[in-house]
Amino acid sequence: MRVKCVLCDQLNVIDDESLLAKRLRNRPIHTYMCDTCYERIAEKTKARLATGKFRIYRSATTHEDW
Ligand SMILES: [Zn+2]
Repeated sequence: MRVKCVLCDQLNVIDDESLLAKRLRNRPIHTYMCDTCYERIAEKTKARLATGKFRIYRSATTHEDW
């Protein structure tokens, strides 16, 4: 099946029988990311965790610390 990276719009072809293809078919909400973007996001997440400033969920749910 053909897939498009949600971040950089790069088109890829993945094996129809692969686990990823099955997951994308069963759960359309599960978006595809190419390897490059996946790595980039993983690096960013690690960097944020390392600096202790990982607050995505917190800022979305409560303002009481402000
Ligand atoms: Zn990408």
